[in-house]
Amino acid sequence: MNQKLILIWYRNDLRIHDHEPLYQAVQEKAQIIPLYCFDDRQFGTTSFGFPKTGAFRAQFLLESVADLRNSLRSLNPADLGKSVGSNLGSNLVVRRGLPEQIIPSLAKQLGISAVYYHGEVTSEELAVESALKKALSQIGVKVKSFWGSTLFHINELPFGIPHIPEVFTQFRKQLEKSSTVYPTFPTPKTLPPLPKVDVGELPQLADLGLEPPVPDQRAVLKFKGGEAAGLARLDHYFWQKDCLKRYKQTRNGMLGADYSSKFSPWLALGCLSPRYIYQQVQEYETQRVKNDSTYWLVFELLWRDYFRFICAKHGNRVFRQSGLQGVSIPWKVDWKRFDLWTEGMTGFPLVDANMRELKATGFISNRGRQNVASFLTKNLGINWQMGAEWFESLLIDYDVCSNWGNWNYTAGVGNDARGFRYFNIQKQSKDYDPQGKYVKHWLPELTSVPARKVHEPWTLSSDDQKRYGLRIGVDYPQPVVDLWKSVKQNEKVYNAALSHRS
Ligand SMILES: Cc1cc2nc3c(=O)[nH]c(=O)nc-3n(C[C@H](O)[C@H](O)[C@H](O)COP(=O)(O)OP(=O)(O)OC[C@H]3O[C@@H](n4cnc5c(N)ncnc54)[C@H](O)[C@@H]3O)c2cc1C
Repeated sequence: MNQKLILIWYRNDLRIHDHEPLYQAVQEKAQIIPLYCFDDRQFGTTSFGFPKTGAFRAQFLLESVADLRNSLRSLNPADLGKSVGSNLGSNLVVRRGLPEQIIPSLAKQLGISAVYYHGEVTSEELAVESALKKALSQIGVKVKSFWGSTLFHINELPFGIPHIPEVFTQFRKQLEKSSTVYPTFPTPKTLPPLPKVDVGELPQLADLGLEPPVPDQRAVLKFKGGEAAGLARLDHYFWQKDCLKRYKQTRNGMLGADYSSKFSPWLALGCLSPRYIYQQVQEYETQRVKNDSTYWLVFELLWRDYFRFICAKHGNRVFRQSGLQGVSIPWKVDWKRFDLWTEGMTGFPLVDANMRELKATGFISNRGRQNVASFLTKNLGINWQMGAEWFESLLIDYDVCSNWGNWNYTAGVGNDARGFRYFNIQKQSKDYDPQGKYVKHWLPELTSVPARKVHEPWTLSSDDQKRYGLRIGVDYPQPVVDLWKSVKQNEKVYNAALSHRS
């Protein structure tokens, strides 16, 4: 009898550890074809015209796919497939195009009997899955979808998807009380050789219509895509530098590599499994220390789970302007001010420093994200979807559920949003950057301004401006709005919209 041939369709799960589809296929003693498909739809433009996958994200993705290819090749029995393109051992087959066309065509060509993959929850991803299932059913190929992106498995939820609590705290408490995290699936030690197939070349950034991003030395970290780099980052953060034990105290930082884990880019592409992180936290708690910081990292991973399950519950609503709450706010589409925001030229140093960091590196801290998102929506009153798409384009850790879920939340249209909540930018600046080190890092024009003035440079007298070599309105912009008045105006608009909701 012919050996069963299973295709593993890799998507946002670019790893070999804790990978159920791969593990299952190995258990079934099947021949295995791992495939990654660069889907051109992911390299088009967003509805507001930004590159859907910008250069930082694309680079991180290319590195992650290349690393997966290396890992798969390293699982060859006797290391047979040393050179890429060899069909002697396992490898990652790479294609460019639509998965719903490429996979059925490969299935016919090679006689594939089943396709295994990790399922997703949002519309674009589900549309591809459903087109693929349809095409495969027509040629009699079995399809099996697995759940693998969250800490808690969907089968472990103490409630059905339609009954997921809308409020995070309720979601978390119920999970903590009655659910357990599954152990990780073992990493296969070897893989069967690929059948005869052209493995395909990895595209270059230019093939995807993108210029290589220019590395910025000021970046918090030199992020490198792939499972190997993700595992190394975890090793560094937990074991080498022992940062986990004070994570709760440092996590609101904005400067430097170690104020937070920086796991998010690897989590977003599945190079790191959240269950593996959890296991390592437990190990750390046994070997080193168990404290509120070790708990807090898991707590944050629960936010990630929450947004994914909420997206599974609400479908497309997370992308709508009225958000999960269905509240129709007359947001502005003010390109002039939006551009000042994206360029870091609003006149508010905390906002500007973060926006310049984002543009220069593809990453900013959680504190930064909350502030810039609040400023865009609560001070400028600009359509939050523009901000979400800007993040989608740039963030190397872009995760559809975490991004759109967090934007819903900060814009005040999310299900768990508590009315018109805004970040007081001046207070945040003083609380989280008291010496102005962060803003000076990204805004060199403010270098000479003393700490007590650096977050409000518009208050510098003309003598002070001369003294510090800074001309407000020339070297650094005047504030684009009055913080207090703008927040009050937008609050009125928001509350009026809420009162019209049925
Ligand atoms: C407007 C906005 C947009 C965001 N977009 C994204 C996004 O596209 N992708 C993304 O991964 N995160 C997003 N976040 C959440 C958060 O900012 C990042 O996960 C975090 O900054 C990543 O850094 P870290 O890995 O060092 O986090 P750590 O503080 O070390 O946290 C550990 C992990 O917990 C998870 N986590 C922490 N906070 C959140 C949160 N608020 N929501 C969901 N998961 C969380 C992440 O997976 C993170 O890697 C967004 C937040 C805001 C306010």
